[in-house]
Amino acid sequence: MSDAKNQGRLTSGCACGAVRYETASDFEFSFQCHCRKCQRATGTGHAPAFAVDISDTRLEGSIRYYAHAADSGARTNTGFCPECGSPIVSSTERFPDRIYLLAATLDDASVFKPQFAVFANEAQPWDRAPGNLEA
Ligand SMILES: [Zn+2]
Ligand SMILES: [Zn+2]
Repeated sequence: MSDAKNQGRLTSGCACGAVRYETASDFEFSFQCHCRKCQRATGTGHAPAFAVDISDTRLEGSIRYYAHAADSGARTNTGFCPECGSPIVSSTERFPDRIYLLAATLDDASVFKPQFAVFANEAQPWDRAPGNLEA
């Protein structure tokens, strides 16, 4: 699916380096989420993220999780580094085998290409989804 498919593994980490992870580069899909929860969690206009199979990802370091209801209503767990607060991962009860990783945690974040936008209706006037990504 992605251009990075044949490059093997993607390595990533939080801002302080206490959390590192490695995952398959052939992620299922990629998107940017403009929901208010992602805005608050990241302190930005949207969260760029990609979905991978949880069994294909190896996390190192401790991650703290908090549970909340996503704007879709699904029960969601979001994980962040307890040292620096960087958001790293989230998952929902609807897709227990899948996790969503935040693209900017990638060591080479330039490989990320969002395929679509979700909750574009909640986007801020200063951070609209590009027209080609409208959900
Ligand atoms: Zn950290
Ligand atoms: Zn969101």
